[in-house]
Amino acid sequence: MTTQADQEKIIVEAFINGQNVKSLSQLAKENPTNPSEIVGYFPVTTREQAVEAIEAAAGAFKTWKQTSVDERIMMMRKAIEKIRAAENEIVHLLSREHGKPLYDAHGEIYVSLMWMEFACNEVTSALQEEIKTHENGKTILSYDPIGVVAAISPWNYPIALSTIKIAPALLAGNTIVLKPSPFAPLAAAKVAEIIASEFPAGVINVVHGDADVGVELTTNPHVTKIAFTGGTATAKHIIRAASETIKDMTLELGGNDAAIFLASFDVHDERAMRRIVISNFLTTGQICMIAKRVYVHRSIYDEFVEKYIEAANRWIRIGDPFDSNTTVGPVNNLKQKNVVLGLVEDAQKRGAKVIPLGQILDQKLFDQGYFLQPTLVLDCDVHDPIVVEEQFGPTVPILPFDDEEQVIQLHNESIYGLTSSVWGTEDDAISVARQLEAGTTMINTAAVQGLDVRFPFGGFKQSGIGREYGAEGIRTYTEKHVINVPKTLDLPYIPE
Ligand code: NAD
Repeated sequence: MTTQADQEKIIVEAFINGQNVKSLSQLAKENPTNPSEIVGYFPVTTREQAVEAIEAAAGAFKTWKQTSVDERIMMMRKAIEKIRAAENEIVHLLSREHGKPLYDAHGEIYVSLMWMEFACNEVTSALQEEIKTHENGKTILSYDPIGVVAAISPWNYPIALSTIKIAPALLAGNTIVLKPSPFAPLAAAKVAEIIASEFPAGVINVVHGDADVGVELTTNPHVTKIAFTGGTATAKHIIRAASETIKDMTLELGGNDAAIFLASFDVHDERAMRRIVISNFLTTGQICMIAKRVYVHRSIYDEFVEKYIEAANRWIRIGDPFDSNTTVGPVNNLKQKNVVLGLVEDAQKRGAKVIPLGQILDQKLFDQGYFLQPTLVLDCDVHDPIVVEEQFGPTVPILPFDDEEQVIQLHNESIYGLTSSVWGTEDDAISVARQLEAGTTMINTAAVQGLDVRFPFGGFKQSGIGREYGAEGIRTYTEKHVINVPKTLDLPYIPE
């Protein structure tokens, strides 16, 4: 339950050139479990302050890029230790401002630190200069820092999706201006400041706000790379904004990830049924890589639905994020709650059957917060909005399919292609997986449960451009620089 200390209001300010910078106006961040409670305040950074942050990062880059990789690793490791020491405090703040249960908030720190550690261990080899001598001389390939990175993160995993950018950008010799989402700005800002305390002034800067500040970050000529995670619609604005100065970009966007259950899947496997339920409803379904549409082979469909409901009713306990019994918290914000409600109501109007799942632990709390009871949607058409759009919340459609060719087509006709999963005997599942257009396909598991930070993560089609995680997620913060020393200096076909 919420403690006295938790009730203290947190105030964050913009962090520019190693200093907190006072702002003229502040916005309140409410607690989604109890929207009348203010968790803290965050500033509305002005465009001028955003410019100051970018100029501070550009100034710091001149010396930061000269530091050795070993020095950077040393600082990052100290920052990791400080985050670990402050984990409980961060987790409580994250739970209160976001609405995710404590275990889930700890999970976010776990994934963040796992990646930061991996990046420290991997950066030396990822950026290793290659020197090749060949019959026509010598070539040196180096991975040089790009410059000032604008890192723009979303609200669903505010810490993980900020550190996924901060760690590799800094380790590769860049400086950064981070803008967390106004729907979850506090814990991300605290973590960024903890990291910043180990680095020279100007290397990490944090600004707050929404599209206004975002536009400065994506148009300012000093910014040479944008690392964005968020919605596909926002990414389209960003691409247009950045086109004037041709910025490098990594875009991690929306998804409509399918889970495909083949005829060889064992519906009596209770652990697997639990895994799919978690893959649909962890973080109240608000994860880019959550399984958002489930296709089940018709031969096992009826039994699958029956076992799914049993498993969901066992695992889903909707309540106070601070109650250790809770597995599913409120939706993060009213806007998102209404998006999900709209899709479910639309499906119902089209004739779908909606089945509520799980147990509401505290009805009074449920009524006061942005809670939504998770639902299963049956009998919908393959092209209904609930199936083809990203719901990003606690509802999931389950549909039957007749043959693999059909389900592969349904999977691939989406505009998205972030992750997917195939469930059944391993050989069958891998054979279908090879035909899917998705950045990651997991076998017999899905979503965060199948995430491996050692390998590149990102999407096909409108799910994004580029990859985060893995060695590639470090090199994406560099420019390849080739130094050629040819033996034959004069080309034979150019006349004297
Ligand atoms: P969003 O696009 O609304 O906002 C993301 C960030 O962009 C926020 O910080 C926001 O303030 C900022 N922003 C808004 N307008 C901007 C503009 N014009 N210029 C620059 N920045 C601007 O997304 P959201 O609602 O915070 O997050 C949910 C979305 O993110 C979902 O679609 C989800 O699938 C996606 N997501 C993708 C991944 C991934 O790795 N692919 C991970 C998590 C979330």
